[in-house]
Amino acid sequence: MSDKVITRFAPSPTGYLHIGGARTALFNWLYARHTNGTMLLRIEDTDRERSTDAATAAILDGLTWLGLTWEGEPVSQFERAPRHREVAEDLVRMGKAYYCYATPEELNEMREKARAEGRPPRYDGRWRDRDASEAPAGVKPAIRIKAPTEGETVVNDSVQGEVRFPNKDLDDFIILRSDGNPTYMHAVVVDDHDMGVTHIIRGDDHLTNAARQTVIYNAMGWDVPQMAHIPLIHGSDGAKLSKRHGALGVEAYRAMGYLPAALLNYLARLGWSHGDDEVMSMGDMINWFDIVDVNKGAARFDFQKLEA
Ligand code: GLU
Repeated sequence: MSDKVITRFAPSPTGYLHIGGARTALFNWLYARHTNGTMLLRIEDTDRERSTDAATAAILDGLTWLGLTWEGEPVSQFERAPRHREVAEDLVRMGKAYYCYATPEELNEMREKARAEGRPPRYDGRWRDRDASEAPAGVKPAIRIKAPTEGETVVNDSVQGEVRFPNKDLDDFIILRSDGNPTYMHAVVVDDHDMGVTHIIRGDDHLTNAARQTVIYNAMGWDVPQMAHIPLIHGSDGAKLSKRHGALGVEAYRAMGYLPAALLNYLARLGWSHGDDEVMSMGDMINWFDIVDVNKGAARFDFQKLEA
C-alpha cells in the first residue's frame, strides 16, 4: 500500500448532498490535507434504479461550493462493473468463491426456516462443495464468497477501536448477482483496492459491512485499508437526523446565505472537537485534525446553534 495517504468520498447519487455526507467528505478531505495526502471521489452509481445524473451534479456542486476538492476525475462505480466481474471470477478460480445455483424457491425456504426458528436468515452453503455439473438447467448462478465459519473477523477501527465479529454470523454472501451485476459489498472493495485507497472514513452505519469487506480483502490477499467509522449525526433530541431537525441539504444553507466557512466550522465540530476555539480557519482545521480524535458517540446536530 502506498505511503501516501489516499482517502475517498464515495456518495451514492440518490439525492442532494446532505449534512451527514458533507461531514464525511470534510473529514476525508481534512485527513488527506493534514497528511499531505489526496482525496479521491467515487460516485457509487451501481444501483441504476435509484441513481440519477441530477443527484451526481448536485453532489459535485455542493462539494465544490464547500471547497472540498478531490483529485482527478470522479470515478463512476457503474462503469467499473466489468472489473468487478473479473475479480469475482478470479475468486472462483482461486477456490475462494463459487457459483451458487440455488433457486429463488430454495432461498425462500431458507428464509422461512430462519423466521420460524427466530434467527436472522442465512444461506446454508449448499453449493459450496457441489460441482457445477449438478447445476439445474436454466438457473443462472450467483457467485458467493466462502466466508470463514470459525473464529472472528477483527476490524481495527481508528474511531471504534478493535471491533470483533464472530464468523459464525457471516454466511457465504453474494459478490456477483445472477444477472452479472456486483453487489455493493464487492464493488466497494475492488474499487478501493484499485484506487489505492489507504484510509476509509465513512459513517458507522457501514461498520458491519467492514467485516464482510475484510473477508473479500483477505480472500484476494489484498491489504485492508485503515478504517474509521464515524458516528452518525443525531438531532438535538437524540433521534437520527431527519428533516424535522432543520434543513438537511447543503444546498439549503447556501440558499439561506451561509458562507461555506461557517458551515464547515459547524460540521467539523460535529463529532470532533479541538479546544474551545470559537472559529477555526481552514488552515487551523487542517493542522489540528486527526481521525483518531473523532468521538465515538453520536454527534448532535442543533439547527438553532447554526442559526445563531
Ligand atoms: N455509497 C455509500 C453511501 O453513500 C458509502 C460507501 C462507503 O463509503 O464505503 O452510504
